[in-house]
Amino acid sequence: MKAAQVENNILVVQEREDEKLNGRKGALVKVLGCGLCGSDIVKLKEHLSKNGTVLGHEIVGKIVGINTDTNFKIGDTIVTSHHIPCGKCEYCKNGNVSMCRHFKETNLRPGGFSELVFVSEEHLQNVAYLKPQNLTDEEAAFYEPLGCCIRAVKRGMLKQNSTALVIGLGSIGILMAQALKAFGMNAIGCDLITSRVELLKSFGIEAFNVNEMCESIKADAVFMTSGSDNAISTALKYVRDGGKIVVFSSTPKNTGYANNEIYYRELTVLGSYSPSPADLKDSLDLLKNKEVKVKNLSTDYPLDSIQKAVNDTIENKILKAYIKISQ
Ligand SMILES: [Zn+2]
Ligand SMILES: [Zn+2]
Repeated sequence: MKAAQVENNILVVQEREDEKLNGRKGALVKVLGCGLCGSDIVKLKEHLSKNGTVLGHEIVGKIVGINTDTNFKIGDTIVTSHHIPCGKCEYCKNGNVSMCRHFKETNLRPGGFSELVFVSEEHLQNVAYLKPQNLTDEEAAFYEPLGCCIRAVKRGMLKQNSTALVIGLGSIGILMAQALKAFGMNAIGCDLITSRVELLKSFGIEAFNVNEMCESIKADAVFMTSGSDNAISTALKYVRDGGKIVVFSSTPKNTGYANNEIYYRELTVLGSYSPSPADLKDSLDLLKNKEVKVKNLSTDYPLDSIQKAVNDTIENKILKAYIKISQ
């Protein structure tokens, strides 16, 4: 089978041994396509992945082999995410499922940018669903990334109609703003790129360019989906005293928040990382009901052009790439 492997921090498509069930419980899935996540790009840019690693976790695929106690069967088209919490450890019991050690260990093998992946029985039981019929493969691939956004929305624990400002209107920012709206918040977005501001407006959500003065906004919460250094000062500028900053992005130089601002302004700064099974379930529902719209948000690339997809994403030529792998 073909798979895109990390080789010295770029993705190179190579032949490797076919993934097989080998008597394991779970499903062998032919990957139809897989979204390219911002976290995949961070791993490449910051040299975090070993050579031979296959990235990709936002998959849509067809079951071609199965050994399961679930109702899934050969021929089913499914979406799944990659991590599953154990539900029993202290992290899980305290709601920090993405810190659960089992969560971090579970994964799709070898990874989504591959013609075949093994999806374990545990995945089938907890985080895999039949692809809704009213979604295209490209749309359904937003299942996991939208789940991440929903987790952030829930972690914010905001009152209904709170003003929530999303900083950074890449694909995640666009999803986050729509998720906030779907959960009853007064969502607003901002970015430096005018076309992205206009795109969010086309979804019926208020947005502005950070270069233009917008002094009137005092957000109850700011959702930081951009990792630029400016994002932090923008967050501090627009959050109201006593408000929250939900951190949803790494920053290149690991820059942080000013201690004294957090103290004198009674700010809450909190992180949100990866979704729980319940967040993922909500994600699928919002996609299915079209409460979050993802049509034409991603651009298709064949597997052989995956490194171009990475470069185009880094250069902001596209919002998000969807790697089309099989028919
Ligand atoms: Zn992702
Ligand atoms: Zn756990």
